[in-house]
Amino acid sequence: MQELTAPDIRASFVNADDRDLEVLDLPADLMLVDWFHLDFLAWRDPSDRGRCYAIVELDGDPTGIVLRAALSSARAHNGICNICRTMQPGNQVTMMSARKGGEAGRRAESIGTYMCADASCHQNVRIAHPLAPNEFRANVDFRIDSTARRMREFVRRVRDAD
Ligand SMILES: [Zn+2]
Repeated sequence: MQELTAPDIRASFVNADDRDLEVLDLPADLMLVDWFHLDFLAWRDPSDRGRCYAIVELDGDPTGIVLRAALSSARAHNGICNICRTMQPGNQVTMMSARKGGEAGRRAESIGTYMCADASCHQNVRIAHPLAPNEFRANVDFRIDSTARRMREFVRRVRDAD
């Protein structure tokens, strides 16, 4: 994706209010981000584990959303992240909710999905691991592409809610 500065990131959010932008902490390693190889940027707020952010490109424009982890989301059993489809222990997949953009957001409506609690989806599908005998490189590429597509679709749903 195109390189984003701190002001670009702050300007990209479609569902953030003034308070959200006030408490937002940028990724600690923003200077080290390899933008060229990034499909989307997602991170957990370094100072508040209950808040995550995701920025994708929609029609060429950086588009960000604020996500909040549901407080009562601790589950004993494993769960699957709806973005990267990785199976995780129960406490590592959490219900994240995003306030809808625009008019719906002002009515306090939100959209939720189960997601990796540490917003690690982008890395999860890229973790180098030996291919299983029946697995092909194309399968890994497919997982990477599908993860990026699902994240874009989720952000689009939040932005275009009405
Ligand atoms: Zn995930």
